[in-house]
Amino acid sequence: MSEQVTCKCGNLVTVDGERSWCTKCGQPVYTDPKKQRRHKWNSLYLTVLFIGTITFLVYIYLELVSKFWVVE
Ligand SMILES: [Zn+2]
Repeated sequence: MSEQVTCKCGNLVTVDGERSWCTKCGQPVYTDPKKQRRHKWNSLYLTVLFIGTITFLVYIYLELVSKFWVVE
């Protein structure tokens, strides 16, 4: 059940199943445009989660540093 799908970069990709990777730009290509959109939201969610974690760690670090600063 392979299907020809045109990637965003214009490259024609043969997709086996529901997802494949573009050989030109390396982006995932989906036969279902709905899944393509979901992937976009998933990456956005992961990015937000990643930035949130980093911010939290920096906050904890600063909190510890400021505590040690007071003791000394
Ligand atoms: Zn591409």
